Amino acid sequence: MPLTCHECGAPDCRDLFDRLLALEFSRPDPYGRLHAVTVPAWFLQHPDRAPDGTRTDHWAILQRWQRDGLDGVHDVVRRRRVANRRGQDLPTAMDEPVPPVPDQVSTAVTIGHVAGPGRDFPEIGHAARVADWLRAIATS
Ligand SMILES: [Zn+2]
Repeated sequence: MPLTCHECGAPDCRDLFDRLLALEFSRPDPYGRLHAVTVPAWFLQHPDRAPDGTRTDHWAILQRWQRDGLDGVHDVVRRRRVANRRGQDLPTAMDEPVPPVPDQVSTAVTIGHVAGPGRDFPEIGHAARVADWLRAIATS
């Protein structure tokens, strides 16, 4: 019997997230290229499990995605890698003020939707299902 997540309401949520991460690490397209947005999305819906101090940045990343798409987020990731290598402060995800993070983001769309009806993250439509998830959270 599936366990319903007490934070987002999706059945077997943590198991689905682990399976998604495994796909992201093994298959760049269409999964791995979305890793920079799926991790913030999942943690925003799971504040009890999010590493301390990451919520504001995760929120800013989704705001950046909403404004500039995946290319904008990948630009942040690239600039952070360079700054990290040089021992510099990491650039912020947004170059303009970001609305405050809501205490509770929308859980109208969860990782259960991203997994699809067979709960196996089918390749076809994956990016669109992730976009549904991100949009629901970013507009909370
Ligand atoms: Zn959950």
